[in-house]
Amino acid sequence: MNDGRKDLRPLAAPGRVKEVTSVSNPIVKNIRNLAMRKTREETGLFLAEGLKLVIDALDSGWKIDTLIVSRNQLPDNALLSRAAARTVAAGADVLEASDKVLSAIARRDNPQAAIGVFRQTLSDLSRIELGADGVLVALDRVRDPGNLGTILRTADAAGAKGVVLIGETVDPFSLEAVRATMGSIFSVPVARVSEKAFLQWRAGFKGLVAGTHMSGTVDYRTPDYAARPTVLLMGNEQSGLSDALAGACDTLVRIPQVGRADSLNLAIATGLMIFEARRARLSLDAKA
Ligand code: SAM
Repeated sequence: MNDGRKDLRPLAAPGRVKEVTSVSNPIVKNIRNLAMRKTREETGLFLAEGLKLVIDALDSGWKIDTLIVSRNQLPDNALLSRAAARTVAAGADVLEASDKVLSAIARRDNPQAAIGVFRQTLSDLSRIELGADGVLVALDRVRDPGNLGTILRTADAAGAKGVVLIGETVDPFSLEAVRATMGSIFSVPVARVSEKAFLQWRAGFKGLVAGTHMSGTVDYRTPDYAARPTVLLMGNEQSGLSDALAGACDTLVRIPQVGRADSLNLAIATGLMIFEARRARLSLDAKA
């Protein structure tokens, strides 16, 4: 047992290499169950597919629980062998699996050569440092895992300091959300808070809180985001920002639109906002 949570590896000792060829192997069944939110919450684990993601995660210090590798590709893939050796050295298990097993875990044909089972890590909102001009993205009840993953990837690319999930949201550790982050789940701090806790934190926050709203009267390019730390508050895909969150903003901005669309997709609107807020700090010459 770990942290009072269920142990996913009843049959395997830490740091061992095992061969698995059957999808009915109990270890494989347990790992497949990580597709379900309930199992992820009970175990505190999640899946990341692909050798690049696994290496990124190991490099960033994320704790690996199990690495599943393609036994067909292992002999000819030095990076795969290296990731397997690092996993064993970290005291975690390596499963050398048939492609059938990898497909079953990834729930798709043509699976990647590696799938990592990692321990979930969330950040504490009060510990995310914004400095003099950092940008924090806050999402009100985000529902779509593809949107959340895309926003994490974009926040990473634009140098945002973190992403805060407010209220009942989709699980950032779902297979779909992790896939859409393309690895940024391992580099962008993610915090989860209730609306009440966010409003309490906001009461002590001295920077700018810019909410995005379809009835905002300020053009989103108007505020001077670089002048102080900034929170960009984005609304739910269906209902937008709650009244309580909208009421807690210093300004409500709108991205001008023409044409017939009622609104922009949440991830697109968030991308525009982050890049605008970070405009003064981004250049092609230097990574900010
Ligand atoms: N029907 C919802 C509403 O009226 O708020 C539309 C929500 S929209 C799909 C999801 C979120 O994306 C919005 O709450 C807002 O945060 C952001 N958004 C989308 N288009 C926007 C725009 N033109 N200006 C400002 N924010 C926008």
